[in-house]
Amino acid sequence: MPDKNSAGCGSQELCIALDLGGTNIAAALVDASGRMVCCKKTRTQAHRGAQAVVADLVSLAIECSSEASRLGAIVRGVGIGSAGQIDPESGVVVSATDNLPGFSGLRLRDIVADATGLETYVDNDANAAALGEAWVGAAKGCNNLVCLTLGTGVGGGIIANGSLVHGIRGCGGELGHMSINFDGPECNCGSRGCLESYVSTWAVEKRIKALALMRGGSWKAIYNATGGAVKGLFDAARDGDQEAIELADEVGRHLGFGVASLANALAPQMVVLGGGISQAGEILFSAVRKGFRERALLPLRDAVQIVPAKLGEYSVVVGAAALVWRNGCAASSD
Ligand SMILES: [Zn+2]
Repeated sequence: MPDKNSAGCGSQELCIALDLGGTNIAAALVDASGRMVCCKKTRTQAHRGAQAVVADLVSLAIECSSEASRLGAIVRGVGIGSAGQIDPESGVVVSATDNLPGFSGLRLRDIVADATGLETYVDNDANAAALGEAWVGAAKGCNNLVCLTLGTGVGGGIIANGSLVHGIRGCGGELGHMSINFDGPECNCGSRGCLESYVSTWAVEKRIKALALMRGGSWKAIYNATGGAVKGLFDAARDGDQEAIELADEVGRHLGFGVASLANALAPQMVVLGGGISQAGEILFSAVRKGFRERALLPLRDAVQIVPAKLGEYSVVVGAAALVWRNGCAASSD
């Protein structure tokens, strides 16, 4: 991880770290020890097209660069964690979902490098989140881990023997599209029974909406809960609503089945769960561990730790900074 060889970089060296998501763009200045100096955010105006979104991204990067100048710091490079499937070698967005229309085929790294005049590195946002958590987060110092980001979709990042697993064209780690049921519900990717179609925000909200229409009563209240239907579900389960407990348990167990399949394939020391649903706390994690134990191979059942992410909404920017430090002034360990 990047902090191993960061001595000698000095406290006045920073990098610009960018998180390009379908909902928000975040930009931060991060030092070689993973400390965030400042962070700026703006909404992603995806409807205005890729050029407008990239212009906003570049403008935030330049604001960060000016901030670094004010601080008298040297900027060593730019790291980007982006939604979509990213080829880190070419810096191209191989494929992006409808959340970022027009991004497929975009030479994201070169555009940002040309605009800022800085060495730029890009990777998938969930891969960046895994790097961030392994660097200074929940899996600090861990060389074998899996990170799942549970949001509107389900992203994944695998670090095996200290290195991110990219596979061909950088498309590895799309763990949300691992099928856990051959005739399960249709997924946004066109397949069936994907983990994402059971545990993503859209999937759980869809279940709650169907129950609200069918049964009404407390499900209606859960669907309309302040803070969203998913939060409503876990709040109701925590308050003892039996039907909510059953659905919350089912969501957790499905996630546990997915985690068990990943663990059986990769035997990670840790599985880090981040994003919206992971904030449900122990009520979710106990169901996940239950599902995991039902399906994981015996030697792994007590060996794999399933933990919540520590960096919260900043895991991607911190991981994007790790992309710079491991390639730049800090010698890489991967
Ligand atoms: Zn899918």
